[in-house]
Amino acid sequence: MDDKDMGPDLEKVLISADEVQARLAGLARAIETDYDGKDVLLVGVLNGALVVMADLIRELHIDTEMDWMAISSYGAGTKSSGVVRIMKDLGADIQNRHVLVVEDIIDSGLTLSWLLSNLRSRGPASLEVVTLLRKPDAAKVAIDVKYVGFDIPNEFVVGYGLDYAQRFRGLPFIGTLAPHVYSS
Ligand code: 5GP
Ligand code: MG
Ligand code: MG
Repeated sequence: MDDKDMGPDLEKVLISADEVQARLAGLARAIETDYDGKDVLLVGVLNGALVVMADLIRELHIDTEMDWMAISSYGAGTKSSGVVRIMKDLGADIQNRHVLVVEDIIDSGLTLSWLLSNLRSRGPASLEVVTLLRKPDAAKVAIDVKYVGFDIPNEFVVGYGLDYAQRFRGLPFIGTLAPHVYSS
């Protein structure tokens, strides 16, 4: 990825497209091994997990089913509060199913923590999480995330499904924004 592909709104590439794909392949091999002989239901959290999901299902050499949830967390500014509302619920009944939640990024972990207790109350056979990215603050909340792509510094990142004001989701890499984007 050379600089001209980044455009003026990006500051730097944190994780290149090749690195993302290679890591996803590694996660897929681990998931295939762990779910060997089991029916796995991938549950994506809209909208950010869209790109991770699309690449992960094509990388996985096991049969999977897919479902989606949309949740919104109430909070002031950019920090999530842990108070969550379901905007779109699952179509599937997950009782006795092996559920693997697919996430883009875990920051405070509050949203995911709420989601996991909500899903756990529905009686799945198992419940695990795969996330492409995790930030250091996530360590403050006791959630066990089985599959983590990259632990990243506490910076705001975009690309690969992650947005700033709904922009930049289509970038094939993870990058940080130039300061002028925030101030304009
Ligand atoms: P948490 O409850 O873990 O703090 O919130 C996670 C959600 O916050 C993510 O699903 C994502 O929507 C948003 N988020 C957290 N960190 C970032 C970031 O660095 N970039 C972007 N684009 N969104 C983020
Ligand atoms: Mg997310
Ligand atoms: Mg967002």
